[in-house]
Amino acid sequence: MGATSTKRQPVNIAPPASRLAAEGGVPVSPEMIPVVSARLGESEISAAVEVLRSGQLRQGRKCAEFEREFAAATGAEFALTTCNGTTALQLAYEPIIGPGDDVLCPAFGFIATASMILARGARPIFCDVDARTFNIDAADAQRRITPRTTAVVATHLYGNPADIDAVEGLADRCGLSVIYDAAQSHLATYRGRGIGAFGHAVTYSFYPTKNMTTGEGGMVTTNDGELAQRLALLRDHGMAPGQRYHHVALGYNYRLTDVAAAIGLAQLRLLPERTAKRRANAERLSRLLAQCPTVITPVPTEGAGHVYHQYAIRLRLDRLRCDRDEFARLLTAENVGSATHYPRAISDQPIITELVADRAPMPVSEQLAREVLCLPVHHDLTDDQVQRIAEAVARVAEAMIA
Ligand SMILES: *Cc1c(COP(=O)(O)O)cnc(C)c1O
Repeated sequence: MGATSTKRQPVNIAPPASRLAAEGGVPVSPEMIPVVSARLGESEISAAVEVLRSGQLRQGRKCAEFEREFAAATGAEFALTTCNGTTALQLAYEPIIGPGDDVLCPAFGFIATASMILARGARPIFCDVDARTFNIDAADAQRRITPRTTAVVATHLYGNPADIDAVEGLADRCGLSVIYDAAQSHLATYRGRGIGAFGHAVTYSFYPTKNMTTGEGGMVTTNDGELAQRLALLRDHGMAPGQRYHHVALGYNYRLTDVAAAIGLAQLRLLPERTAKRRANAERLSRLLAQCPTVITPVPTEGAGHVYHQYAIRLRLDRLRCDRDEFARLLTAENVGSATHYPRAISDQPIITELVADRAPMPVSEQLAREVLCLPVHHDLTDDQVQRIAEAVARVAEAMIA
């Protein structure tokens, strides 16, 4: 290292202020209604402090307790904590998806669902989504099956379960494994059962913007005891249970800390009430926006208990004089925060078009990427704020009508 290296400027690795604001880290102005509420309360803070005082920081009893309670809450038999939702996907994929496999997955959503398929050395086969549910269109998926297709991954996007009957029907007919990405859908239900009851494995994230958080964190649930054992092995360097430094599989370190698990347990106990609040807020918004001709409000999948991670409206751009981004700016001027999840189909992302050569058109996904706008729906909103959000949306829509 020469003298010049000591002069090098430190690299700023903090997320930009705009992202912090969008994720609720920094209030923009006191009147602004934020799109996310990620503050921790006293119950989470004291639970974390208790673990800090105990000195037992690594994955231990709190993680085990969190796993038991989370499995029960989601209708699954087994649950395994992981350090984030992306490693939860990676763990769930590894025993089920092999190199060279083709894997059906939705073209609309967050990239990790697809990028972790590529990380397995497998090929994502993008499928278009249903414009009403935002989730994988099983009929479209059926048409895209290849001789090497071994699995289907379905995301429960925005808190709305996919059409599980259709996905499992497809999987049964074609002999596919099923993995669900429920990063946005803790406590969602389908036909009266927790979504953890379905498929070979279900993955969750506890990132701060999700319906519940541990800072960073994730979980995999499954009803398959053998799979659960395999995942536990992979999570901890392939170390045989109870046999320190005896490694029987090539594994990783995807463990969660007991500090995070204590926060997760406290958040999980708050979640039923917060979910009820999200649902009430969503129903209210939909009622107030029902007469707005340029806004399409979200509806749950038939048979599903939506948990409204996002309240995603679709803008009728054919009847508006502005695009979605301009609409969002006008809402900001009305002191209503909003967020665009997602401005691009996954199948349209630069790295995906680079790595996945045969690019099929995804008309619905591409349309949603232009139309979707997420409004605040979180548990911290007051009734007055919900009213103000709907009024602001109606005012902007009225002003921009074509
Ligand atoms: C957040 C999210 C992930 C990734 O979870 P992280 O905890 O951020 O790694 C994966 N899939 C979906 C659908 C998500 O929303």
